[in-house]
Amino acid sequence: MKIILTGFMGAGKTSVGRALAERLELKFIDTDQYILDKTSFKSVREIFEKKGEKYFRKLEFNAARALADGGADAVIASGGGMINAPGALEALKKGGGVCFFLDAPFEILKTRIKNFTTRPLFKNHVSARALYNARQHIYKGYADHIIHRGKLDIGGTVQAIIKTLAGAAKKKNVVIGSPVAHSLSPRLHKAGYKALGVEKIFSFGYKEVTVTELRDFMRHTRKEYNGLSVTMPLKTEIIKYLDALEPAARKINAVNTVVNKNGFLTGYNTDYQGVLYALGNVKGKTAVVLGAGGAARAALYALKDARQIYLYNRTLRHAREAAKIFGAEVLDDKNLKLISRADIIINATSAGMDGVSRPPGAEYLKAGQTLLEMIYKPNPTPLAALATLKCLTVITGEKMLLGQALEQFKIFTGLPAPEKAIKEVL
Ligand code: NAP
Repeated sequence: MKIILTGFMGAGKTSVGRALAERLELKFIDTDQYILDKTSFKSVREIFEKKGEKYFRKLEFNAARALADGGADAVIASGGGMINAPGALEALKKGGGVCFFLDAPFEILKTRIKNFTTRPLFKNHVSARALYNARQHIYKGYADHIIHRGKLDIGGTVQAIIKTLAGAAKKKNVVIGSPVAHSLSPRLHKAGYKALGVEKIFSFGYKEVTVTELRDFMRHTRKEYNGLSVTMPLKTEIIKYLDALEPAARKINAVNTVVNKNGFLTGYNTDYQGVLYALGNVKGKTAVVLGAGGAARAALYALKDARQIYLYNRTLRHAREAAKIFGAEVLDDKNLKLISRADIIINATSAGMDGVSRPPGAEYLKAGQTLLEMIYKPNPTPLAALATLKCLTVITGEKMLLGQALEQFKIFTGLPAPEKAIKEVL
């Protein structure tokens, strides 16, 4: 998500932007500074003096386009005159930006602008006021939301922006499955609500729901819940009760996140994003996935940039079905030793949850490989303990859980996920 702040000089775009970015754990970008960093000029004033306003507006447009294309989530404080750079704010917003106009009476702004003469387009109070009057309706035209700063201090303005993004209506979320009492999801999400000061808007509970109880539970969902976090054994079963699936969930054929928008239920899969969060860049790597259930299919989806994917599952038929969808090569008991050639091994079976069992193939693990053990309880599993002994890099299921929860948080709230605060729960 990109949050764009506009407004007149002195409206607090930089100070509010910095504080907002810190709270949301996003990068802060000031477009004026961004432009100076990319050129050899020392100040915006120098650019105006040496090259003229038109030249500077062109730089603003280029900066807006680069920031929009850059893709990274950020809080962006736009220059007060960027509204005069043709196409610049449109370009910034095209990259998925939500635009907030920080509005305040000129009388207040006047006291905040210390030196009028250093601003390229201000000469004195009179000309600054004329510019303020001329720009007001343009700021409003670009704004998705207007924050009337008035007496709001920086903290109050930050909170007003977050609350505007979250929406005023209370939203109930719940994790469903069976068993579900062990789920960490409520604690993870609540830590995020607290960090953003939106715990009065969002709630997150548990609900034990078995496969046979699901139909009945779904009857109330459209009226009662904003979001469902879905765990075993409901991830595939729930699909028939939904109105739409996003592409990853459709391909994986498993849903761990459901969002209710005015009674329309959409299913998402954030487990694959958890895999990517845990593993980082998988491009060009060789990977072995153990298992062929919902979590294994999420891993196969996440590995689409891998060079080669092998798939092993205790029931060969299930492995063949999944391998066909994701272009993986099936391993059987005879060629399981190919595990030793992989860069990455992912255990997506349930073998190890009992603290005793291990999936087949552990004897072929080699030092230098990376193991993602999806199981996070117990920690370590027998497989992860052995991998550590053999000097593999072991990534625990907790990291994947965190990664999928961060994405789920964003989907449920429409807000960036405060990663540090959520991580502290683990
Ligand atoms: P699932 O759909 O029930 O699939 C289970 C898979 O494990 C199947 O391939 C099954 O093989 C295999 N399996 C079960 N017991 C086995 C055993 N004793 N030996 C070898 N293979 C065995 O479950 P899932 O949703 O994919 O979840 C799999 C695991 O991933 C669970 O431990 C779950 O907790 C974990 N997970 C973790 C995260 C996270 O965020 N860390 C997210 C999702 C899942 P068959 O086809 O032969 O039955």
